[in-house]
Amino acid sequence: MSFQLFGLPVSRGVAIGRAVLVASSRVDVAHYFINEPQVEAEIGRLRTARDAVAGELTNLKRDLPLDAPAELPALLDVHLMLLHDDALTGATKQWIIDRHYNAEWALSAQLEVLARQFDEMEDEYLRERKADLEQVVERLLRAMSKGGVASSFAPSPPVSGARDFGGEDPLVLVANDIAPADMLQFKRSVFTGFITDVGGKTSHTAIVARSLDIPAVVGAREASRIIRQDDWLIIDGDAGIVIVNPSPIVLEEYRFRQRQSELERARLSRLRHTPAVTLDGERVELLANIELPGDAPAALEAGAVGVGLFRSEFLFMNRGGELPGEDEQFEAYRSAVEAMGGMAVTIRTVDIGADKPLERMSVNELRHEHALNPALGLRAIRWSLSEPAMFRQQLRAVLRASAYGKVRLLIPMVAHVGEAHATLEALARAKQQLIEAGKPFTDIEVGAMVEVPAAVLILPSLLKVFDFVSIGTNDLIQYTLAIDRADETVAHLYDPWHPAVLRLVAQSIAQARIAGKNVSVCGEMAGDPTFTELLLAMGLRSFSMHPSQISSVKQRVLRTDVKRWASRLEYVLQSDDPAAATLELQRSFSNAPAPAATAAAVT
Ligand code: PEP
Ligand code: MG
Repeated sequence: MSFQLFGLPVSRGVAIGRAVLVASSRVDVAHYFINEPQVEAEIGRLRTARDAVAGELTNLKRDLPLDAPAELPALLDVHLMLLHDDALTGATKQWIIDRHYNAEWALSAQLEVLARQFDEMEDEYLRERKADLEQVVERLLRAMSKGGVASSFAPSPPVSGARDFGGEDPLVLVANDIAPADMLQFKRSVFTGFITDVGGKTSHTAIVARSLDIPAVVGAREASRIIRQDDWLIIDGDAGIVIVNPSPIVLEEYRFRQRQSELERARLSRLRHTPAVTLDGERVELLANIELPGDAPAALEAGAVGVGLFRSEFLFMNRGGELPGEDEQFEAYRSAVEAMGGMAVTIRTVDIGADKPLERMSVNELRHEHALNPALGLRAIRWSLSEPAMFRQQLRAVLRASAYGKVRLLIPMVAHVGEAHATLEALARAKQQLIEAGKPFTDIEVGAMVEVPAAVLILPSLLKVFDFVSIGTNDLIQYTLAIDRADETVAHLYDPWHPAVLRLVAQSIAQARIAGKNVSVCGEMAGDPTFTELLLAMGLRSFSMHPSQISSVKQRVLRTDVKRWASRLEYVLQSDDPAAATLELQRSFSNAPAPAATAAAVT
């Protein structure tokens, strides 16, 4: 039966593929395709794990103390029975044979099928056996990882592997939630789209999806409960719609749209080497946001003239709690700097916390785990200042990278002048340590992210301390409107067009310009072409965004007469509905181009 689900559109484009349901706790299980000759060996891994777990359970039962509760042996028997049940291991084997999934993936897929059957059982006792099944699967997964396994969403050339199993079908991942750290694995994964039940438009999960340019819908509420393993899905990442088991006509329509958007992208990509200059001659800098050094080539390819935001915290994820040491960080920063070939790379110090927790369980982390409201808790610069040794280590690594190219340092979530001074003191100490160790570095500019309304209000003071500022609109919206950016239940209230938000952005840009300091926007607003003219009118000349958004924004820049827009800026800022006012201006300006206007965009 065909039906639709609605969520939040977070990453543009259309994806069509079969559903792969993954429980949130198992998203980081290895997902990869094996080749035909590996099928037997993979089944062997499953068999070895099953035998190991059977041994474990039998030993446990044998060694039960005499005074153990009477239910325990019976429970272990249930686990043994589930372990040997063909519905689990037999069907898992079939996923390996038919789909060429690796054993862990096959097991998770089968667990999802069985868990659903348990959920639908009338009998409460039987329904509760789902927990037993999950425990058995956890044991099997653990046994397999002991037997040697690749990392999450791992190896082999995934896409070519996908072709091996006979089905050409692309796959779409469906989960209740995906942590930003797990999203990173998409860079190497087989999935062509994803859907989650929870999440907001600027949650970090959504941001990573956008940076990968993978069509995605988040906040689709019941999706992971309603969609079944292997269902055909269409993700409309522009409209936030998921179509489950579409009819052939609908499928054809979306395939057509897919081809159209590919053509549109190819057309826009021709702007890659065109300088971003407005109709009235204002030069604009379009920079890239990156998560890992490996993203730098894509930034160059998209025509970025530097990195405006390197979210360094992603280097700290997926490491089982180990933090990267100074040398490892230095190598990562250096490789980004070298890859950008002399263009500036703005490295943000770790923005850990809120929806980007660390796996590490330090005292601070424990505090974070129990924080009532982590978005208002120990995150970003607050976290760094509370871990001075870790902070200095990062600062030394960033400074050392400056010996290899232009590096700028960016501090997230500054709200107090005291934080600015504490940061500069830490930097001075880090420099001193490098001098003593005889390690080279150059002087670097230090900037603050404007992400909380307090920072806007004290910006003149911050601008005395910092060399530049970058406006993080994602958090600025969250903290101005009191809306958790990761919470889909209030996502409809997360409004970048809110007059308060626009006035704060305009005020920040104006103050930075008065102080003669560089200002950029690196939040999602910078990559959204519907804001381009307005930001230009506010005086912004530096935008930082996902590489995939650069060409669309450049197209807008090329078509904008800034003076004309600036003359109407106050009208938009004073409007109760700035989105409507902007749209009205966009329409009226495009109907009556400015006299000097020439067709600058790609036709
Ligand atoms: C922002 O808040 O706008 C920003 C760019 O930082 P992040 O999205 O990583 O919090
Ligand atoms: Mg932020």
